[in-house]
Amino acid sequence: MMPATDPTLLALDFDGVVCDGMLEYFQAAWRTYCQIWQPHDSTPPADLAPQFYRLRPVVETGWEMPIVIRSLLDGIPESEIFQDWPNIAQKQVQKYELTAAEVGQKLDHLRDTWIATDLEDWLSYHRFYPGVIQRIQEILETSVKVFIITTKEGRFVKQLLQQAGLDFPESRIYGKENKRPKHQILRELLTNSQNQEIIWFVEDRLKTLQSVQQQPDLKTVKLFLADWGYNTVGDREIATNNPYLQLLSLDQFSQNFSEWPV
Ligand SMILES: [Mg+2]
Repeated sequence: MMPATDPTLLALDFDGVVCDGMLEYFQAAWRTYCQIWQPHDSTPPADLAPQFYRLRPVVETGWEMPIVIRSLLDGIPESEIFQDWPNIAQKQVQKYELTAAEVGQKLDHLRDTWIATDLEDWLSYHRFYPGVIQRIQEILETSVKVFIITTKEGRFVKQLLQQAGLDFPESRIYGKENKRPKHQILRELLTNSQNQEIIWFVEDRLKTLQSVQQQPDLKTVKLFLADWGYNTVGDREIATNNPYLQLLSLDQFSQNFSEWPV
């Protein structure tokens, strides 16, 4: 077997790879739900959060999160939501005479207000996956360049990493403000450098990896699906059967690149 070549550039998604924002997702979703439906009791039922956590991988866009909560409280079984979420979501939005855009705006507004009024509190709803910060710190001390490519605002990523004790260079964070798809940012990283970079990209969303895979000029980028992030058993099966995608465990992520499945 040929020895694998280590990357010269490691690109990481943030939520679902480095940072676990599940507590924040639930809070933001529940508070938005309360604004829309005004329940008598603003404390969520005890079993709601774990159900929401299990179902989070079906969500593609923020507006769906309060609709997941509505659907669970309407008694739609988890198994149905897993199998048929895009249809259920559309039906629910119609049933309650809402639009996706309207629910999305409510969620964005709620989150913006939360961040503006109590940033510390908002940051406190984020956790880091075990060992990830330490491993990034180790890699930062080598010649491998680490980049973060995320749909979160870059300044929040910077603050969260700082809270975790990691002084991560801001110029290496590509956040929401860049307004370009991840494959475009990878293309820039690949072509803007003087040396031919060997890029490895770790992401927890299968569709994002597939969109990179579809770019003929990005064939050299190695793609890893983070199995600890927000993806389903079905997503992981697809990745396992796709020769261009590698399923990566948190344990493998924490080890030397030579131990990664390439
Ligand atoms: Mg992610």
